[in-house]
Amino acid sequence: MNPEKDTKAASPFRSLPKVDELLQAAERSEWAIRVPRNVLRAAARNVIDSIRESIRLGKLQNGGIAKDAWGTMLQKSAEALREHSLERVINATGVVLHTGLGRAPLAARAVDAIVEASQSCALEIERDSGERGHRDQAVRRLLIELLGVEDGTVVNNNAAATLLAVNTFALGKEVIVSRGELVEIGGSYRMPAVIERGGAKLIEVGTTNRTRIGDYKSAITARTGLLMKVHTSNYRIGGFTEEAELGELTALGKEANIPVVHDLGSGLLTKSLVPALAGEPTVEESVHCNPDVTLFSGDKLLGGPQAGFVVGRAKAVEAIRKNPMFRAMRLDKLILAAAEQTLKLHLEGEANTTIPVIERLNLQSGVLAERARSLAEKLQKRFAAKNETVNIKLEAECFESVSEAGSGSAPTVGLATHCVAVSVENLSAADLARRLRLSKPAVFSRIYEGRVVFDPRTLAPGDDDAIVASIASALVNN
Ligand SMILES: *Cc1c(COP(=O)(O)O)cnc(C)c1O
Repeated sequence: MNPEKDTKAASPFRSLPKVDELLQAAERSEWAIRVPRNVLRAAARNVIDSIRESIRLGKLQNGGIAKDAWGTMLQKSAEALREHSLERVINATGVVLHTGLGRAPLAARAVDAIVEASQSCALEIERDSGERGHRDQAVRRLLIELLGVEDGTVVNNNAAATLLAVNTFALGKEVIVSRGELVEIGGSYRMPAVIERGGAKLIEVGTTNRTRIGDYKSAITARTGLLMKVHTSNYRIGGFTEEAELGELTALGKEANIPVVHDLGSGLLTKSLVPALAGEPTVEESVHCNPDVTLFSGDKLLGGPQAGFVVGRAKAVEAIRKNPMFRAMRLDKLILAAAEQTLKLHLEGEANTTIPVIERLNLQSGVLAERARSLAEKLQKRFAAKNETVNIKLEAECFESVSEAGSGSAPTVGLATHCVAVSVENLSAADLARRLRLSKPAVFSRIYEGRVVFDPRTLAPGDDDAIVASIASALVNN
């Protein structure tokens, strides 16, 4: 910083270009002819905003941006505007269900089903009679077969399912929940707020670490509409703890004639599906305890699209289906197609080879060690000490680490893995990670002890080569 120079200079904001000036700079360029005028104007405004921000942060030392750079800046900005914001990225974080990266990557057959359903499809029509049908019929049959429940349906996500369940069973009444289960799942999704917005009154029972069945029993009054058990997916209380079992709660519900809802969230169907997540409660166990309904997500451990499944007793599921809010939370046909295919793969016993989430969670440390070694080798080869194409010095090394299930599933379980740690001479890990996020294809990694880390557990076939290419482009183009 040179304060003297600062005070002498005219206000740097005066050097900000105007929209029309920027457009003029691009007027005769080949690329600009193909870009719609309104996109160009929006791009110009973004360029001006970013220059203004740079000035404000004191990043522009020499009196602004030279005029001959305007055209290139505008072109870059226009390209960014025309990019597809949900382009594919590479998840090298080792977090299998990364909420920021779209949670579950879908099975190939689920993707095919989406493409198929994108045209006209028999969404709500009985083929035999030609009469209007129900969109959840196929999923309903699959849920019944897969889980042995009386009935099942699906809505937008587990959050919607919870809201619907509260509203269906306890509108204007009370919902009893353990103090240890009043969780925040993420964002503003907090159980007490959901119950209130569902039109019910929350009655907290027990304490943060201990709640017994007697606590529920003594809280039951004529106003009680629902007993609810919530899986505290994303956190664990250790030490001196006690909670009422779901079985005890359903017995109490039956005795008092009050519906019981289990908000399970994570949606692991059975223990054997992912042996490493032995502590995670399963849909099978929940259903076995016979609550009125069990709720679980589609895009967590089930490995499907965003959805909220509602399964259980026929009368309860039908009541939810009849709630006028159900229509506002119903699934789009594309998601429904993917949900149906995902359930089919589970039913066919193919999950472990076809559903990426299940495959990845089950990858063994030995396989991952081999994949990490292969990636490290590719990197070393490509960036062999200051070669001619890329003038950088990069080091890649394998090490033992842990991956996570993610999205609040099994938060305390670490899955043994082997990663590749990369460092580049004269470039910080944060800088390299940022460049990789902005490269094409974008790569999301994690940083550990000053190095950028790639976990092969969450990589798809072919991602290795893409990582090598992205590193090369990230280092050359910056
Ligand atoms: C994740 C979770 C939710 C929210 O599920 P979405 O499908 O993301 O809406 C609700 N309840 C529990 C217990 C969860 O784990």
